[in-house]
Amino acid sequence: MKETNFLHQVYKAICKDTGDQNESAKLIVVVRLLILTMIVYSLLSSGLCLFASHTGGLIFCQVSAVLFLAVFVLSYHSRTFVSFCILNAYILVWIIFNIVMFGWNIGVQHFIIVLLIACFFAKYKHAAAKASYALVLCILRIFLFLYCQDNSPHITLDEGVNNLFQVINTLAIFWSISLIAYIFSTDTQTLECKLVEYNEQLKKQASIDPLTGLYNRRRTLEYLEKLLKSPEHQISICLCDIDFFKRVNDTYGHDIGDVVLKKIAETFRKELPSGTFISRWGGEEFLLIFPISNGDEAQIFLGTLRQKIKEIVFDGGSETFCVSLTFGLVEHDFHSDLTTILKEADEKLYYGKEHGRDQIVF
Ligand code: GH3
Ligand code: MG
Ligand code: MG
Repeated sequence: MKETNFLHQVYKAICKDTGDQNESAKLIVVVRLLILTMIVYSLLSSGLCLFASHTGGLIFCQVSAVLFLAVFVLSYHSRTFVSFCILNAYILVWIIFNIVMFGWNIGVQHFIIVLLIACFFAKYKHAAAKASYALVLCILRIFLFLYCQDNSPHITLDEGVNNLFQVINTLAIFWSISLIAYIFSTDTQTLECKLVEYNEQLKKQASIDPLTGLYNRRRTLEYLEKLLKSPEHQISICLCDIDFFKRVNDTYGHDIGDVVLKKIAETFRKELPSGTFISRWGGEEFLLIFPISNGDEAQIFLGTLRQKIKEIVFDGGSETFCVSLTFGLVEHDFHSDLTTILKEADEKLYYGKEHGRDQIVF
């Protein structure tokens, strides 16, 4: 418990912002974690030099650790950008010194890549400055390489110590790059997730009728066009309309009318087979698509549905009432186009309305 508390305090201290609203909070966290990494690195290197009895190397690593500590303290007193620049400058000088002291083989030059990545992830919009800095880093690396070709290091490490330095460097570099990438990528990932979610919502809104939750006309046409393009099964389509719905609105009010629409939509969902595409075609008209049923099968489903809807008792306030629907059912002949099939369903619905309503015309 105490340990978690301590870690939490450390975490809070690292995240402590400079107080300036315009500063990048993430960058300062990266700067501080990089400095801490460099301090740990310098201490480990000191231990290594001590173990190898390299007094010069030991002093160099100890001084490095103290200077990194100074940059760490400075990060709480200067602006993020300034701290970032100081850290960059210091690491560059440190790389040069390390290479001059220990040579190319300890692998310290790879820290240049850490600086390069940190520079491009930092949220400052100075593309030209970033590109120039990348060029400088690249030239510096080449220059250091060429320098090492002609000059021997001041401190010659024996092979074992040299290999250990390589391991520590590799660990520190991988850790630093992962740290930078992790901290800066979380924003992008969160943003991406939000965008996907938002797009899903938009897509849903664009295809769903908000009152009934059924598919709207736009989505239905999209679905039908696709379905009729390559019909694999017998398809049946039914256009249906609530009878005398205007009377419901006029007698009981528009809100009760809405309740009726919602209840009918719910009944469609409950009573029709699961593959049925149910949509609100407009107003009090619905289009039901049976993608794997012939007309006879669809007629059976509609028969049950018609009965169930008629059995619903609505509360109109002063009295109760029931509603009925008229259905125009068409079986797709595998040839007719969308317009023709919809026209046919509409004609059948009209016929039903003209001939007493509350019926299925097939
Ligand atoms: P018919 O049997 O011939 O279909 O008669 P009807 O009264 O149902 O048909 P009409 O076209 O005369 O009236 C349809 C009514 O549906 C008129 C309109 O106010 C109502 N309506 C359309 N959309 C909504 C809605 O979203 N909510 C409510 N409450 N009423 C709606
Ligand atoms: Mg109607
Ligand atoms: Mg109508």
